[in-house]
Amino acid sequence: MTGREASGAAPAVIVQVDRDRCIGSGMCAATAPGSLALGADGLARPVREQPTGAAGEPLTSELADAVDFCPVEALSLYGVRDGRRIDPTG
Ligand code: SF4
Repeated sequence: MTGREASGAAPAVIVQVDRDRCIGSGMCAATAPGSLALGADGLARPVREQPTGAAGEPLTSELADAVDFCPVEALSLYGVRDGRRIDPTG
């Protein structure tokens, strides 16, 4: 058993926060509270710990919006299966 994987239409992703970029605006936590929160240090972190190789969580529209709305591009999503960055693209 490798943990939870995408079971429906949503692909499983790993959320990564670049804490050197994060300015603690809280926008991501407000947009996708099921996936992101502000830690005691005032910076964003994934709600569920996601060490490399973890099963990840479903890519919801809220999570995708949080990545897009971050004012300093501190959020990235990686595919669980292949480790490729899927958002932001390019
Ligand atoms: S939206 Fe970006 S800058 Fe704001 S708390 Fe989230 S990761 Fe940090």
